[in-house]
Amino acid sequence: MRLQGKSVLITGAGSGIGKCTAQLFAAEGAEVIVCDIDAAKGEETVAEIAAGGGTSAFLQADVTNPESVQAMVKAAIERFGRIDVLFNNAGISGVGAIHEVEPDVWDRVINVNIRGVYLPSKYVLGHMMERQSGNIINMSSCIAEIGLARRASYAATKGAVLALTKSMQVDYAPYNIRVNALLPGTIMTPFVENYLRSSYADPEEGFASIKSRQLTGELGRPDDVAKAALFLASDESKFMMGSPLYIDGGVVFGKNA
Ligand code: NAP
Repeated sequence: MRLQGKSVLITGAGSGIGKCTAQLFAAEGAEVIVCDIDAAKGEETVAEIAAGGGTSAFLQADVTNPESVQAMVKAAIERFGRIDVLFNNAGISGVGAIHEVEPDVWDRVINVNIRGVYLPSKYVLGHMMERQSGNIINMSSCIAEIGLARRASYAATKGAVLALTKSMQVDYAPYNIRVNALLPGTIMTPFVENYLRSSYADPEEGFASIKSRQLTGELGRPDDVAKAALFLASDESKFMMGSPLYIDGGVVFGKNA
């Protein structure tokens, strides 16, 4: 029960890493606000948490829309009285080199992945500053640290989230608010499965390409990231401030050739 008594808001909690984290956090005693753009998937996360004996509520929001995010944060505070931890997890992928990416696709990736961190943070921070206490986890990616082919828009956003995390930490340290970032490698979620389906005729080819970047032959799983998020959300990481936490099977710091 490492999160007993904490209220946690997770964006994009209807699928993949966000869903797995919501389930783990609830099992560790947190009250979880499950936020997603997709109501059916968000409600499913809540039903699964309830079946496991945990406490959560679904609140729909589009993290790119200020009115939607502001209303969701207000409802979350009304429901649970406070937000101790904000996990800015929602994000979308973007495939293509610069010359291949159309402006509307570029804007969408930038919007969801950067504005989608800015807006929930903006509306939760006033509340955390008032309480002189808070913890924000931003979802970056190990792509912020390495060059990877044909991911221009996505890499730009995840690098921005890492820089934003450090800047936020400096601004909000005086309010006893910690801000850290998660940098996963490739994690098997619907997000990656869709990408593999659209990019490779044979999924095994895709798996081989992922493994070739790692120092382990194992594929990353949502609970690998959820456990790292648990550490950042808990007081066990109280001396971590503005830090990147890598969960990447050795992609960033390993060299196997
Ligand atoms: P996922 O399975 O697609 O889950 C993301 C969730 O966010 C989905 O339920 C999605 O809904 C929701 N979402 C998308 N746009 C939204 C919006 N505007 N407002 C609210 N919710 C929205 O993806 P995942 O793999 O778990 O990824 C979660 C995060 O981890 C992302 O930020 C991703 O960039 C990051 N990440 C993933 C990996 C990986 O290999 N999987 C690696 C590094 C970092 P829809 O399905 O309806 O769009």
